[in-house]
Amino acid sequence: MNECDNATRDLKTLALFINVYCGQKHSAAPKSVVQLKTHDVQAIAGRPISLCDGCTKLLAHAFVKRAHCPMKPKPACKHCPNHCYHPTYREQIRDVMKYSGRRLVLTGRLDYLLHLLF
Ligand SMILES: [Zn+2]
Repeated sequence: MNECDNATRDLKTLALFINVYCGQKHSAAPKSVVQLKTHDVQAIAGRPISLCDGCTKLLAHAFVKRAHCPMKPKPACKHCPNHCYHPTYREQIRDVMKYSGRRLVLTGRLDYLLHLLF
């Protein structure tokens, strides 16, 4: 698998994790389909991703950071010496990974966990 495929797979995982998290945690918040100038989110995720404002910002931040990661090959983010996320977003993404990771285990979606980034 080349670096390009890895990046797309990581972005897909990120989008789906944030989608699970937002759908459960922010079920009352108004949501809209995520559109980024930098990426075709729907094509990457395989379906439209609808998020609240805060989660849309988080996803945009995560996508930009992943796309610009200078490490080749990219290590798992938690093992990376060069923490690139803004501290606020880093807290949030860890929360998302913990929450959605647990839900995916409970619902048997272990395929996503095989390639966990965080
Ligand atoms: Zn949200």
